Amino acid sequence: MPIYEYSCQKCRHQFEALVRAGVAEPTCPSCGSEQLERLFSLPAVRSETTRDLAMRAAKRRDAKLGRERVEEQRLYEQAHDAEGQ
Ligand SMILES: [Zn+2]
Repeated sequence: MPIYEYSCQKCRHQFEALVRAGVAEPTCPSCGSEQLERLFSLPAVRSETTRDLAMRAAKRRDAKLGRERVEEQRLYEQAHDAEGQ
């Protein structure tokens, strides 16, 4: 569920809101206005965490691919040796 940051066009109050698909846009908790500007910049801490998680996932994927490549090489060499004998 995405969290968006909103800025109220009327009172400039900024707040975060969870947005579910198909549910009406939130209203300003300060003045009740529906004239909100959606900001796409999430707080730094949250995007940092997302980046870290993505990085860790990529590293895990790379490590797995690395092992598979080693295994492939080993099988290739075994087959090659068998042919030579
Ligand atoms: Zn407002």
